[in-house]
Amino acid sequence: MKNLYKKLLKEIKKYDNIYIARHIGADPDALGSQLALKEIIKSKYPSKDVYAIGAPASRFKFMGVLDRCEDICENSMLIVLDTPDIKRIDVQDLSKFKFIAKIDHHPEVDDYSNLKLIDDSASSTCQMILEMVLILNIKISDNLARLLYTGIVGDTDRFLHDYTSIKTFNLITKMLNKTNFKFTSIYEPLYTKPLAEVKFQGYIYQNLTITENGVAYVKITDDLLKEFNVDSASAGNMVNSLNYINEVVVWVLLTEDVKSNLIRVNLRSRGPYINEIATRFGGGGHKYASGARLTSWKQAEDLIEELDRLLKDYKSKE
Ligand code: AMP
Repeated sequence: MKNLYKKLLKEIKKYDNIYIARHIGADPDALGSQLALKEIIKSKYPSKDVYAIGAPASRFKFMGVLDRCEDICENSMLIVLDTPDIKRIDVQDLSKFKFIAKIDHHPEVDDYSNLKLIDDSASSTCQMILEMVLILNIKISDNLARLLYTGIVGDTDRFLHDYTSIKTFNLITKMLNKTNFKFTSIYEPLYTKPLAEVKFQGYIYQNLTITENGVAYVKITDDLLKEFNVDSASAGNMVNSLNYINEVVVWVLLTEDVKSNLIRVNLRSRGPYINEIATRFGGGGHKYASGARLTSWKQAEDLIEELDRLLKDYKSKE
């Protein structure tokens, strides 16, 4: 990876205008890596114009401000973070960029860049940026540490997932030793939520449907979102709070998004790999955490059926 990080820096040096993008539906890892990389480039090359682009996510606005981007300058570089597939890049037209680099911790899906830095053993894209910072001996401000730590905590769900590694802790320890950043300060902005969402979480717990073989799911219609005064993205984020239920090995939130005319799927497992099925339904993701966007409730039912079959098969081999 060391040579790739050096190569990336060499490319960055060549361009006056640099755009940093990530996937649609921004989360702390995508935003943290994006804003951190912008800070790194700006502090090393103050005269370059660097834009962190994409639709903002209001619940994570404490992380920092994104840039408005009307027209893409000619001869510019695009760095895409945390996004394995072209369809999920939050950028209108990739053909406008002279050079594209990709930094990602997902298994590769589309080969869309001139330079790719992929480490699917890394817990998060923020972990990769942190590794780069330490390898290249880049100065770490308290804000940089805050952004990277928030992204790592977000993607590992507070170090719960099994792609959290010794390396994750080693990198964080090195970073914390170099700064005055107080890491416990991020939890309040990251985890405090409106009472309406907590009540809605209660609804989800009360209304889980569990299939014969142990797939838990909830259908969240637009009417329900209105009744509880919760938006579809916040509803989907609740998927991680269904971990560690004895009877449930695979679980799914199916959330209607009338604005985009689709059904968002948040899919998790602590047994069989689920990303293949997610891909078959037009989505994708990690082995144990995937997602998709469906066009009908019928498709959602088909997905549940397939997951139930997968789980039956998995249990028969245990
Ligand atoms: P989420 O449930 O939104 O946290 O998503 C979990 C993981 O699934 C993400 O890290 C993405 O890798 C992947 N993912 C989510 N939605 C999609 C989608 N529509 N298409 C492909 N991958 C997705």
